[in-house]
Amino acid sequence: GVAVGRRVRSKKKWNRVVGVLRELEEACETPVGRLKQVVDAMAVEMHAGLASEGGSKLKMLLTFVDQLPTGSEIGTYYALDLGGTNFRVLRVQLGGRRSSILSQDVELQPVPQHLMTNSSEDLLDFISSTLKEFVEKEQNDSETSIRTRELGFTFSFPVKQLSIRSGILIKWTKGFAIEDMVGREVVECLEAALNKKGLNMRVAVLVNDTVGTLALGHYHDCDTVAAVIIGTGTNACYLERADAIIKCQGLLTTSGCMVVNMEWGNFWSSHLPRTSYDIDLDVESPNPNDQGFEKMISGMYLGDIVRRVILRMAQESDIFGPVSSRLSTPFILQTPLMSAMHEDDSPDLNEVARILTETLELPEVSLKVRKLVVRVCDVVTRRAARLAAAGIVGILKKIGRDGSGGIAGTRSRSDIKMKRTVVAIEGGLYTSYTVFREYLHEALNEILGEEVAQHVSLKVTEDGSGIGAALLAATYSS
Ligand code: BGC
Ligand code: MG
Repeated sequence: GVAVGRRVRSKKKWNRVVGVLRELEEACETPVGRLKQVVDAMAVEMHAGLASEGGSKLKMLLTFVDQLPTGSEIGTYYALDLGGTNFRVLRVQLGGRRSSILSQDVELQPVPQHLMTNSSEDLLDFISSTLKEFVEKEQNDSETSIRTRELGFTFSFPVKQLSIRSGILIKWTKGFAIEDMVGREVVECLEAALNKKGLNMRVAVLVNDTVGTLALGHYHDCDTVAAVIIGTGTNACYLERADAIIKCQGLLTTSGCMVVNMEWGNFWSSHLPRTSYDIDLDVESPNPNDQGFEKMISGMYLGDIVRRVILRMAQESDIFGPVSSRLSTPFILQTPLMSAMHEDDSPDLNEVARILTETLELPEVSLKVRKLVVRVCDVVTRRAARLAAAGIVGILKKIGRDGSGGIAGTRSRSDIKMKRTVVAIEGGLYTSYTVFREYLHEALNEILGEEVAQHVSLKVTEDGSGIGAALLAATYSS
């Protein structure tokens, strides 16, 4: 009787846990019909954001980049890339022929956690010290003259640009929160810090990371019309016709086009599949009610969604033992660990077990429970990748590259001549998380149809956000 009773109780517990999973799966469903609604909503919001300032949650920010690098850029340029997990300093030597980057040196440092929230002074001091060391090292081993160095500054936050080389920080994202810098002119702040260090450098361009990525993508392949970042945060930019930027009447550009920084991380639509975990994560985040799309897609958040689901399962039953304090700690399960669990191909899921015990301080769990955790990772990643794919198709739709062009009903799909379309893409989620990448591609094919999807390619531009800023420094300083 006792044994039977125990078995019945444990069966009930298991059912409750499976219930949590089923509920999650249902809430995260992204059938292609729903994705197409997200595509349409994205295109509609893009129009609204271009029509008037504040017309949409999509800010559709002007970048003042109206010329993308052509390949004729020549000389040595520098870049600072701030806004993700790592901070980068780069030197790029350009040869003056298409795609001839003669050399590039990149130095990378993780941004210390406390600098993300202290004061602008501390952050800028750290940046300029790192840059100074980088430049000083160079003087020892090369014959660099004492000319002013031209710098591209990649600053990956929403900025209201005033010109190609100035702009005001609108708000922080991705866990950065330095109050005294919001509303200030970013380049002025940086140049003051550089001067204090006695560095002879001039900021030639201020760019978003998406814009740097587009610049490098375009340098290598002039069919590149948009760029997407899916890393710590997520965002996209694309090349728009100046006359389509209605909120800026009479905008003068040399090419008739301008790159628009969408800030799609803040996109929102009632068609997005939202769960109670998303709501809780948002409420407890440093920027509640903000960056809703980003919180479902990017690397800063995915691991924490998974942690919240496991926590809920642990509360519903004791399959994970008593709730550990680690399991209740926000952001303790980072996305690289989540992807390591998801991609664990050992028969016993040893990596899953190791991460659960080491990071979340849970007891050893059975294979059955490990599989459950992998399933949770899968659901969360799949939703993220498919929503990102819908976002990309939203851009294609806005610029008439989604294959739906032509007058409805008068031509069959195969009659429509599709231009080759390249989207530059960067960020750890896409480049380092294979399952994520595969789900994204799969969804692109589903939404566009194989035939149209053939003409669209995603191209990784490694270090594009930084190298692209150096390229733009060259474009705009000469
Ligand atoms: C920022 C964007 C940036 C993106 C990717 C977002 O949080 O708002 O400006 O492009 O992250 O780094
Ligand atoms: Mg980056």
